[in-house]
Amino acid sequence: MKYLLWALLIYLAWRWYSAAQSRKQGQAGDGHGEAAASATNAERMVECPECGLHLPLSEALPGPGERFFCSEAHQEKHAEKLRDNHRSS
Ligand SMILES: [Zn+2]
Repeated sequence: MKYLLWALLIYLAWRWYSAAQSRKQGQAGDGHGEAAASATNAERMVECPECGLHLPLSEALPGPGERFFCSEAHQEKHAEKLRDNHRSS
């Protein structure tokens, strides 16, 4: 019974040690870290609801209903549509 307890303790210590080692390796993986960072830094793309054009958020124009537009013309066009919907309903 005593040996079983020791075996269990050694097993748990080994499990803990290998988990710590793999965690350390994960942090050391610079290549992976950079890839993940650049993925999160990549600019969010938005779609113009009027023409379906995809463009980066920084170049898009915010419009009504948390939508983003490729140009002022489409921004106004969509706003007009929303106004029409409100009038008809
Ligand atoms: Zn558009």
